[in-house]
Amino acid sequence: MTTYTFADLPYAYDALEPVIDAATMQIHHDRHHKAYYDNFLAAIKDNPLNGQPLETIFAHISKESAALRNNAGGYYNHNHYWNVMRPHGSNAPSGALLDAINSTFGSVDACKAAFKDAGIKQFGSGWAWLIVGKDGKLAITSTPNQDNPLMDTATVQGTPILGCDVWEHAYYLHYQNKRPDYLDAWWQIVNWDYVAERYAKATA
Ligand code: MN
Repeated sequence: MTTYTFADLPYAYDALEPVIDAATMQIHHDRHHKAYYDNFLAAIKDNPLNGQPLETIFAHISKESAALRNNAGGYYNHNHYWNVMRPHGSNAPSGALLDAINSTFGSVDACKAAFKDAGIKQFGSGWAWLIVGKDGKLAITSTPNQDNPLMDTATVQGTPILGCDVWEHAYYLHYQNKRPDYLDAWWQIVNWDYVAERYAKATA
């Protein structure tokens, strides 16, 4: 039985400045993420899937309501997003993850460029993702709204190891309409150790 909890941010609101400002982080976590969480609890309350891991729910999401799909996605995706960023600047991919990035994309820079392209081309609100596909290989994709690659509705399915929120609420106060600038700056705070942990679990 999974208990669905709402965690505090793992760092202070201003810890990611200047890449992401404190006001954006506070509104994003305390209001947007909290609303997804509250609405997820309401949507799952009387559902037989209540208590199941989110991954199990996502695997059947095509049969569920839009309210459950949107809010379970928003709840899960933001938990990932907070943890895939770190204060005091980015570290670098290493080990098996670095090898996989190099063999799939040619270089870390090429991987970043493809990820940015996916984020820019996602029309309207959504997410850019680096995933481990069902073939065990890395791939880059994007999803609309609060969907993610664990959902049976996703065009490209797999286990997300790095996701970036490209909803305007994630960047508009500081970057206004300039999503590409946000995506460029975002690499300065990516926690590649967390990505490597997720890669190891997804390929174990
Ligand atoms: Mn968001």
